[in-house]
Amino acid sequence: MLKGKCAVVTGGGRGIGKAIAMKLAQQGANIVVNYRNSEKEAEELVNTIENMGGAALAVKADVSNFHEAETLIKSAQEKFGRVDILVNNAGITKDNLILRMKEEDFDKVISVNLKGCFNCIKHVSSIMLRQKSGRIINISSVIGLVGNAGQANYAASKAGILGITKSMAKELGSRGITVNAIAPGYIETDMTEVLPQKVKDAIVESVPLKRIGKAEDVAELAAFLASDSASYITGQVINVDGGMVV
Ligand code: NDP
Repeated sequence: MLKGKCAVVTGGGRGIGKAIAMKLAQQGANIVVNYRNSEKEAEELVNTIENMGGAALAVKADVSNFHEAETLIKSAQEKFGRVDILVNNAGITKDNLILRMKEEDFDKVISVNLKGCFNCIKHVSSIMLRQKSGRIINISSVIGLVGNAGQANYAASKAGILGITKSMAKELGSRGITVNAIAPGYIETDMTEVLPQKVKDAIVESVPLKRIGKAEDVAELAAFLASDSASYITGQVINVDGGMVV
């Protein structure tokens, strides 16, 4: 379905990003696996994709850094000649109640989650505008929709992503570029592994489907949004949350 297309997945070495990179590779896309720290995981994923008969490249870049984000997108274009799909997945948490949240913890989360998303869109948009086609998929969170105690920084970053998504959908739509956001609920990855068991149990209890989501659940939607089947969908926020937020 995605044969010949080039997809850049930020934070693609592990977790949800890895599942999305794998799924897009299975659909035939050439993959750029961005990482910041997880070099080994990113290189392993590249090997896996190549062993499947696909093509992939691992690129180290901190997406919160404007110039490193530019290098990431340029590397993709140099290697594969185009960039068709951008998945802004890289994200971090630095949770604390507002009285204890440090200024740098607010700034850092906004910088990676929200500015990182802007940085990559900024650099990919000129390429997609020239191509007159493209798919931008931003990984937000249900926390960006409903907020959460102890996550003012994270919720603000994820709500900000929704604002970028809708603005970019309006700005880029006339040139055949769609921009959508996925809002995952509680997904089993390193990010949620650190939560206390009591908190995990309470979350599962609040989910109508009574299970934790898998990274692959998110990847399925990302692959659909990246495909031609989703060509008339833009500016949307779609939850993958087992019904947590309805
Ligand atoms: P993980 O903690 O498992 O993975 C985070 C990923 O982000 C890693 O690949 C990491 O790369 C990358 N990353 C972090 N900072 C940077 C940076 N500055 N530059 C480039 N890459 C960076 O998290 P998940 O897989 O769970 O989360 C993926 C996305 O999904 C995030 O945006 C998260 O907010 C969102 N999400 C997750 C939910 C969940 O329940 N898990 C729920 C809702 C949303 P590296 O290891 O190389 O640093």
